[in-house]
Amino acid sequence: MIIVDFVYLLVFVINVAKCGKPIEIAILLDNETDQDLYKVIDYIARRHQVDSKYVLTPQIINVKDMDSLRLEQTICNNHLAQRGIHAIFGSSPNNDIVQSISRNLEIVQFQNFFNPDIERDVFSQEKPEETTIFNLYPEFKLFAKALAALVNDMDWRTYTIIYEDDNSLIRLQEVLKISQNDDFPVKIRKLLPGDDQRPLLKEMKLKSELNIILDCSPDKIIGFLQQASIYNLTGEYYNYILTSLDAHTLDFADIIDYGANITTLRLIDPNSEQIKYMVKDFKLMGDQYNEDFKATSSLFQLKTALIYDSLVIFLTAFEQLSLRHPPVALPQNCKIPEPSKDGFRIAEYIKSKTFENETIHGPISGPIRFDKFGRRINFKLEIIELIKDGFRLSANWFSENPKKLEYVVSEEERKQEFEKHITQKVFRVVSRIGAPYLMYAKPAKKGQILEGNARFEGFSMDIIDEIANILNFTYQFELVHDNNYGSYDPVKKEWNGLVRDILDWKADLAICDLTITYERGKAVDFSMPFMTLGISILFSKDTKQPTNLFAFMKPLSLDIWLYMATAFVVMSILIYVAARLAPQDWENPHPCDPHPKELENIWSLKNCFWLTMGSIMAQGCDILPKGVSTRTIAGMWWFFSLIITSSYTANLAAFLTNERLGPTIENAEDLAKQSEIKYGCLQGGATSTFFRDSNFSTYQKMWRSMQIAQPSVFESNNKDGVKRVISSKQKYAFLMESSTIEYEMERNCDLIQVGGWLDTKNYGIAMPMNSPYNAAISRAVLKMQEEQKLHKLKEKWWKEMYGGGQCGQEETSSDDSAAELGIDHVGGVFVVLLGGLGIALIIAIAEFLWNVRKVSVETQISPKEAFLNELKFAVDVSKRKKAVLKRNNS
Ligand code: ASP
Repeated sequence: MIIVDFVYLLVFVINVAKCGKPIEIAILLDNETDQDLYKVIDYIARRHQVDSKYVLTPQIINVKDMDSLRLEQTICNNHLAQRGIHAIFGSSPNNDIVQSISRNLEIVQFQNFFNPDIERDVFSQEKPEETTIFNLYPEFKLFAKALAALVNDMDWRTYTIIYEDDNSLIRLQEVLKISQNDDFPVKIRKLLPGDDQRPLLKEMKLKSELNIILDCSPDKIIGFLQQASIYNLTGEYYNYILTSLDAHTLDFADIIDYGANITTLRLIDPNSEQIKYMVKDFKLMGDQYNEDFKATSSLFQLKTALIYDSLVIFLTAFEQLSLRHPPVALPQNCKIPEPSKDGFRIAEYIKSKTFENETIHGPISGPIRFDKFGRRINFKLEIIELIKDGFRLSANWFSENPKKLEYVVSEEERKQEFEKHITQKVFRVVSRIGAPYLMYAKPAKKGQILEGNARFEGFSMDIIDEIANILNFTYQFELVHDNNYGSYDPVKKEWNGLVRDILDWKADLAICDLTITYERGKAVDFSMPFMTLGISILFSKDTKQPTNLFAFMKPLSLDIWLYMATAFVVMSILIYVAARLAPQDWENPHPCDPHPKELENIWSLKNCFWLTMGSIMAQGCDILPKGVSTRTIAGMWWFFSLIITSSYTANLAAFLTNERLGPTIENAEDLAKQSEIKYGCLQGGATSTFFRDSNFSTYQKMWRSMQIAQPSVFESNNKDGVKRVISSKQKYAFLMESSTIEYEMERNCDLIQVGGWLDTKNYGIAMPMNSPYNAAISRAVLKMQEEQKLHKLKEKWWKEMYGGGQCGQEETSSDDSAAELGIDHVGGVFVVLLGGLGIALIIAIAEFLWNVRKVSVETQISPKEAFLNELKFAVDVSKRKKAVLKRNNS
């Protein structure tokens, strides 16, 4: 490098020797290999020599590894004290000392780097407006506004800022203010020291950070993106804003194919007229001096370009002011400063002008204007985006209107590009098996093996097919890895199911009966909904339960029946005993005889039983007790009978009604109140999340009861839930989404939906956050809705295919089935009647036979004869009188 230095310095010396009057400038280089800078300085020095009476005489000061003291000594002793300096250019790690020398000796200094400290330094001076220090890097607050406008226009819900050093945060302060959204907080990460950024990228991958503002030096950008690609962080759903104004000079050839959306800003347009001119002129100069003067893209890196521009500005000022100073700057002493005031005059001139980039010889980062404190306050930034052929200008930002971007690429152009892009894309669609949304297709011929999309059919597939027709893309259906919809595990901090596949970039779209929920909405994007529904209760109808003939017994428990029977017997015996003891119940058998010889008691056991029976049956009895004790007992028994009979009657009515209508579950509240019917829902779906997160006390109660139920009331899919409802015959209700309930009710007429919807929600197509396809897909869904296509597809899969439409009619007719009681409910009473009649018949026969025996014995005729006689008499209805038996004594 020393050789290179030597070569260039030699060239300058030759120039000076040739053309007299040198303008002494110091250029600080902190990178000795910066050949481009040498070239630019050389170029400008030579060109200046051609058309000016002055000759630029650069004194190159290599400041790399120099501490402040050495730097001060070098500038003061080696340069200022010997040849003097008109202006200082370039950058140094110890800029403070350079600023201090410039200020003390009133030497104009041009800075070409981001330096927020300039403000602090200038404002600490007594007269800040007399500063001779200029910073050509855009003023940092304005630059922050440009970044903020860009981020604002990106419409990001959340983003991650990756910064390299603390100065970056100053540049990004406006950006930090943008997101006030607590749900989507901005993440701030610092680049790791060294080149290995993998731990940082891994973390970002886990957190699904898609929108990234990368604020680092240009030499780190490509390495970072290459490492990001290892973790798939450079796919088409990733968005990067590179804040480095030099990012556009890098080689993105390897990055373009990854597909990430990369946007950056630049101050210098490499296609501008000046640059084109310079490239040509470089070549000319090369030919002229027979040297390699090829202009490379790095030649237009900001640092180099800003040195070029500061030289342009300085020389313009120098010449415009026609300074009458000696062409050779006076040697100066840093210790005893003697400001010549020239620096101040040059500075004033520079502050008064705007340096336009309209002329070929104008500044290449122009227009340039400084405020009185030396800050660059007037500039234009180009917003450029990476496309297949390199960077393309998409918008301009002007410091005069800092909140807005002026777009260059029209909406129409973007639309056309998108349409072209989408036709070339094969969408990976992930779904899960669940009728009627997606089912395995049946092969037309036996043994035929289906492949690709032909393996499946269903509502979801038809929707995607229709969207693909509208937008003209192709798609490939695959099944989700774990057959889950997508729920978040707060312990493992990860998603499963379809949501997980989207987050892992395994799919571009996810479709099934996938509910749009708030939680999922934070992880993935959803299209416009294609179906609206709500949670409801799936229950089985009262399907021909085994008839209980003795249902009339149910109002009282078996115990009560037994107690009643016992009470009946005991009371009858008690009346019998009491009646025997009670004098009033011993009566004159012949009331006409005032002095009977004996008294009679009618209260035989038979009559006692008859009395108690008559009263409990509410029929009364033709004989009644007369004794106080017996009347008391009878009164108590009647009271008992009254209560028991009334309770029985009341309960019987309710009971028979219940029997007829089945369990009285009409809504979720009814379910929550009872414990006989178990109820559950799909595990890990939106339905269980609804109950888990509900603030409504009934649903909280239901959730608690579902959680503790044994065996578990949760099912891994809707199909199993439906099977359980059917098999458990009104002992299990399944909380399911109404759309699927409708589907099941079309096919199984024993199922009913109980009550209305507990909530309202929608199914949507999930896709990665920021998916560029969301708007187009949503539009297609809307179109299908307007054209009734969604409705037709629903009719097809719900009512027509695979057994649909079976139960619609029956449903209505059976709904208000007659309110009468059927034989099923009261048949038992007939059975009792028949049973009683049978018993009565047997008793009648027994009594008859007993009488036959008696007649046979008493009349001394044969039993057969007696039987026939008695039978004849009994069936002869004309005979109403019967002779009294006369004992045959012979
Ligand atoms: N459709 C629901 C989901 O997306 C499944 C359910 O919970 O019923 O999770």
